[in-house]
Amino acid sequence: MSSKFPDEWRKLYEEILNCRKCRLHANRKNPVPGEGSFNADILIIGEAPGRREDEEGRPFVGAAGKLLTELLNSIGLSRERDVYITNVVKCRPPGNRDPKDDEVQACTPYLLRQIAMLKPKIIITLGNHAGKRVFSLAGLSWDSVMRRRGKAYEGVIEGIKLTMIPTLHPASALYNPRLRSVLERDFKLIGKYVDTLIKGISKEAERKTPKRGSLLDFIKG
Ligand code: URA
Ligand code: SF4
Repeated sequence: MSSKFPDEWRKLYEEILNCRKCRLHANRKNPVPGEGSFNADILIIGEAPGRREDEEGRPFVGAAGKLLTELLNSIGLSRERDVYITNVVKCRPPGNRDPKDDEVQACTPYLLRQIAMLKPKIIITLGNHAGKRVFSLAGLSWDSVMRRRGKAYEGVIEGIKLTMIPTLHPASALYNPRLRSVLERDFKLIGKYVDTLIKGISKEAERKTPKRGSLLDFIKG
């Protein structure tokens, strides 16, 4: 494997490829560990692989994935360079049913290791299940994705201080224009947090910094 694959990540992927810790291993074609940049400051967490993801062993490659890619691009982020994308469970539940609690429990250590290795500044959760799981890892209470979405929450997971921003699952917005505009609005907010927390550009700070060479400078000077 190429040197772009750090040892700790290679070890994790090998364990997931051989994992039989829950019943979801039985029907999978391929497990889907995740993909993206191992240096990303942004971790995106979905629920579980679907049919296309199971076939390709890659996260978010179906219709919902296409929308996710477009939303990321719309705020200037690239899938390859700026984010790492994974799911709460790494194997596809048969017929795309919801993952069961014991399956989520069995798979969570892999997600925790991904968080510990990546040390993201921002976690974006997609949909109710991912939001609920990640909030519980941070010891925060959760009610519903519609009540939590579109806001930023501070938390600590695996000793890492991070900002969590829940939003809708892109699959829910595919055929629903109203939900799609909610998702687009949430991504605009995500873009602002990325500018502030990662690129270090704070509009507030810019406003507070006096401009050099103003008329006032001239009069005082
Ligand atoms: N939906 C998810 O939650 N994850 C994927 O990887 C694809 C679709
Ligand atoms: Fe292992 Fe997770 Fe796949 Fe279950 S879903 S078999 S715990 S990798």
